[in-house]
Amino acid sequence: MTAIKTTCAYCGVGCGIRATVTGDRQVRIEGDPDHPANRGKLCSKGTHLGETVGLEGRLLTPMIGKRRASWDKALDLVAKRFRDTIAQHGPDSVAFYVSGQLLTEDYYLANKLMKGFIGSANIDTNSRLCMSSAVAGHTRAFGEDIVPATYEDIDAADLIVLVGSNTAWCHPIIYQRIRARCDAGAKLVVIDPRRTETAEQADLHLALRPGSDVALMNGALAWARAAGVVDADFLTASVTTPEDFWTTLDEGSDLWSVAKTCDVAPADLRRFYELFAATPRTVTLFSQGINQSTTGTDQVNAILNLHLATGRIGKPGAAPFSITGQPNAMGGREVGGLASTLAAHMDFAPENRARVQRFWAAPTIAPKPGLKAVDLFRELGQGRIKALWIMATNPAVSMPDAGAVREALAACPFVVVSDVIAETDSSAHAHVRLPAAAWGEKDGTVTNSDRTISRQRALFPPPGDAKPDWWIIKEVGRRMGWKTAFAYDRPAEIWREHCRLSHYENDGSRLFALPGQSSAGNADYDAMQPFRWGGTPFADGHFPTADGRARLVTVTQKPLPAPLRDWPLTLNTGRYRDHWHTMTRTGLAPKLARHREEPLVEVHPDDATRLNLTDGGLARVGTPQGTSLYRVSVSTGQRPGELFVPIHWTDRTATGGRTGLLPRPLTDPYSGQPGFKRTPASIAAVATR
Ligand code: SF4
Repeated sequence: MTAIKTTCAYCGVGCGIRATVTGDRQVRIEGDPDHPANRGKLCSKGTHLGETVGLEGRLLTPMIGKRRASWDKALDLVAKRFRDTIAQHGPDSVAFYVSGQLLTEDYYLANKLMKGFIGSANIDTNSRLCMSSAVAGHTRAFGEDIVPATYEDIDAADLIVLVGSNTAWCHPIIYQRIRARCDAGAKLVVIDPRRTETAEQADLHLALRPGSDVALMNGALAWARAAGVVDADFLTASVTTPEDFWTTLDEGSDLWSVAKTCDVAPADLRRFYELFAATPRTVTLFSQGINQSTTGTDQVNAILNLHLATGRIGKPGAAPFSITGQPNAMGGREVGGLASTLAAHMDFAPENRARVQRFWAAPTIAPKPGLKAVDLFRELGQGRIKALWIMATNPAVSMPDAGAVREALAACPFVVVSDVIAETDSSAHAHVRLPAAAWGEKDGTVTNSDRTISRQRALFPPPGDAKPDWWIIKEVGRRMGWKTAFAYDRPAEIWREHCRLSHYENDGSRLFALPGQSSAGNADYDAMQPFRWGGTPFADGHFPTADGRARLVTVTQKPLPAPLRDWPLTLNTGRYRDHWHTMTRTGLAPKLARHREEPLVEVHPDDATRLNLTDGGLARVGTPQGTSLYRVSVSTGQRPGELFVPIHWTDRTATGGRTGLLPRPLTDPYSGQPGFKRTPASIAAVATR
């Protein structure tokens, strides 16, 4: 039995796995000691992947309505309905909603079909909900969506700052790396409204008021400037500073004002500011607590400003580091699989549109950015999107205001869902369901948080009629009339084309480029070892902007709204350690269910006493969007006035805990990322224990 090297199906850490097939759909999973992301370690989710490869709940044949259908019939129907809709209502009347679970080759083809052949940019992804504020922030500051850090920077840092990230639960292998560095003497500061497991182990925890991150980061920069650690030479040589930058920054950025805005003890804030000012080798990691906000892009830029102004970028152990949620969120960014990007880190500038159209030999090219996720589902609800293809994701649970998303799906004239799961909350509304190959059955590549590209390799043949996503997409493209442009026999061909586009007519102004891979043979592709693109970005002080300079972005703390009379509390949402998204995979692993058996609403003891809530009792959480039932957990880890609930449970997994029904569909103006962290809410006891 030979071990096959592949990559974990879950998070953006991108851990390497050695998988040994031991029987009929039986596999032994071990960490790959040679993979640079994890060096042989795995967290609980990765360790139990072998429990999730059975056929329970799988979709094994194409379905038209409730009837089984042949691939020919199902694909012909999908192609015809999309073609007819476009002919009648134009290219912007159709949309794809895809996923960071797709492999890069799948993502590339979906993007090519929509933007180059259908001629619309209405392809967005569930990564919009995860890291699009980081993309917008990077682009504003650096000119291109570049993550400047690597995991080795963690190993070299003397101070590690985690902002809005429960890393111990959500990126456990990165957290193990952080712990190892702390054991060697580095300090750990956690900035998070909740006292999470990560915060428990920090040298300093700042439990700031939700949404006050810009004030806190601007205060850190004002302090650093007063302490003389702004890098004037770097700013002069490599960074454009807006005229109003420092005067705006100084307003309200003194220690006492920031402490009041953030509701943290001045002494704790001072400790962080002094530590930051004194530690050149600082890595600041941030995740959903920063990104999933209606001010997410400004929050990202406040962090990037801090690192740019102090010259803590492009050097070992010194960088801002956005960590991605999904296994291939980064690969999706590379192919341009967001409605707001065109392809290969290019935007919709006329020269880019012409360049990509030439490369694809496409009949048309999307003229402008398309609908971002929340807008896409809003337009669906208003009847302007008339045909939608959902690939490998479950928006009826994961989108904010999920109740309205369900109504929109139910009203849409034609919905296609390609997924490995027979029935999801979203596919319940599908006219056609297409059986996709699952993790362990398909070949391709993924890119993790630190730009390392790894292979996913098939362990088993796809069961029943299941097919890889790239195959399904190319068959629809061919049946829509573009036979030559979608004539692929294997993912390696798509990979080579993607790599060619990454450096096609690139004059060096884009950092993302994979020239060495364009000529990789099939055997090279099969044998591909993990590799990172981009080297150490910005080490030479050059940035991919027109003038080669980075940009400080003037950002100010927005006023934080007063509590509403009917919804006086603030609802935060997030993940549990052993579950993933809407549990379609982790729900199959019994051992993973033991960590948290049901969805809990965490409540501060003062609120519990005031509202007659008891630990273990039941309570109904309400927001302007809807209500859902949870078991109560009274916890001093919560700030008074704030609630926390997990995102994973669905109609199909529980009668309560349907968190998707609760957040408002409000988004960041730059990134379009919805805010999941600060929803006005109420809570009422249903039963006490
Ligand atoms: Fe998989 Fe993420 Fe765990 Fe690594 S840290 S084993 S990628 S879930």
